[in-house]
Amino acid sequence: MKASEIRAKWLQFFEEKGHKIEPSASLVPHNDPSLLWINAGMAPLKSYFDGRVIPENPRIANSQKCIRTNDIENVGKTRRHHTFFEMMGNFSIGDYFKEEVITWAWEFLTDKKWIGFDPERLSVTVYPEDEEAFRFWNEKIGLPAERIYKLEENFWDIGEGPCGPCTEIFYDRGDKYGDLTDPECWPGGENERFLEVWNLVFSQFNHNKDGSYTPLPSKNIDTGAGLERFASILQDVDSNFDTDLFRPIIDRTCEIAGVTYKTNEEQDIALKVIADHVRTVVFSVGDGVMPSNEGRGYIIRRLLRRAVRYGKKLGVDRPFLYELTSVVGDVMGVYYSEVVEKREFIERVIRTEEERFHETLSDGLSMLSEIVTSAQSAGSSEIQGVDAFRLYDTYGFPFDLTEDFAAEHNMTVDRAGFDAEMELQRERGRGGRRETESMKVQGGPLSDYTDKSEFVGYTDPITESQIK
Ligand code: ATP
Ligand code: MG
Ligand code: MG
Ligand code: MG
Repeated sequence: MKASEIRAKWLQFFEEKGHKIEPSASLVPHNDPSLLWINAGMAPLKSYFDGRVIPENPRIANSQKCIRTNDIENVGKTRRHHTFFEMMGNFSIGDYFKEEVITWAWEFLTDKKWIGFDPERLSVTVYPEDEEAFRFWNEKIGLPAERIYKLEENFWDIGEGPCGPCTEIFYDRGDKYGDLTDPECWPGGENERFLEVWNLVFSQFNHNKDGSYTPLPSKNIDTGAGLERFASILQDVDSNFDTDLFRPIIDRTCEIAGVTYKTNEEQDIALKVIADHVRTVVFSVGDGVMPSNEGRGYIIRRLLRRAVRYGKKLGVDRPFLYELTSVVGDVMGVYYSEVVEKREFIERVIRTEEERFHETLSDGLSMLSEIVTSAQSAGSSEIQGVDAFRLYDTYGFPFDLTEDFAAEHNMTVDRAGFDAEMELQRERGRGGRRETESMKVQGGPLSDYTDKSEFVGYTDPITESQIK
């Protein structure tokens, strides 16, 4: 089943259950300074959940583009994580609750008319104190107790405000993916034998200022299911990256780089990272985010530069990411017409940014050659931290490239010295505070994103008029 069919089925199923279908909102939150990116299907509907706005229909469904930069380190390593992905959701604003949502989820997943998963392959997790959810799964759906795992983490709480337990649905991908005698293979464990496909959140309490919890007068349902994960199961492929959502991008990158997918693990990681990041960049630029040194633009710049560097690992030394824009459009255009309509603009933005980064890298390289020559003539085999930092700080030259270059000349780099300079830089503040604060409220993901070897030069944000 193609990903576009899965999405269409989702929307049709919930429409038949009386839901109003909302189009995907922009990745840039509207009127919500607490969030850097839309990171869940519920995020653009928040004003319904907190009661500020009364929806026309209390039942809503969508398929929402999302960005989660906190998953960046997982990209290319796990089978299931992306920085940009699509979350399908159904929502009840004070209307239906646990029983209906569980019943419908099961129907959608197992009925042949819809997804048609083998029911034997499904397991769930519940919050240990949520006996109601346990009972619905066990008695109403008939799921054996041993396939209902109790997990303490199954409580959705972001501090003050509505919160509640959740139940998550996992698909067992079989013995090939891990041995059941290993608890890490059980739902919620590190292993991906059980793939989390859907999270149903029962928002039934209010987390009060004093830390106590009281039942909410109007209970809500918020669910989220990853389209790419459904596709990986239904297309019977090894990872999300092998689905029709990613393969065309990976294949095109292979053509550009002259490499073959699935012949070398390191290379595959690079191909996956590039495919992931390019989707994130294409969609954000499509939603009006321009690469810059602040906020969202900064994230985009870093992702793009990270993709360029992974491209270098594949031997691609020229701008190429922009060429993938049209492939993203071919794949996603059926539902997201913006990536097709704005293709030329997006290509220009990406190309300009890639060119700039290549220039930065070559300036950095000539600077580095001088540093190496003078260190060697002084009889040293180490590049000083302060020099590595200057390269990083002034030329946007990533630390690990300095290290690679040093290694090629039988030299090392003083990492401790570099870190110390970095720390001093942080203390100086340099006006980055606002950005860090806004990153923190996204639940820490961006402040967790501390890949120090990445960098962003001090170039000014690109303005539209500068795009060639
Ligand atoms: P995981 O444990 O696999 O990281 P999660 O518990 O963080 O997932 P939720 O916050 O429950 O995910 O989001 C709801 C659904 O969205 C998940 O069940 C999954 O199908 C999908 N999803 C979440 N994060 C990602 C991601 N980074 N890439 C792709 N799909 C995702
Ligand atoms: Mg996660
Ligand atoms: Mg999870
Ligand atoms: Mg989850």
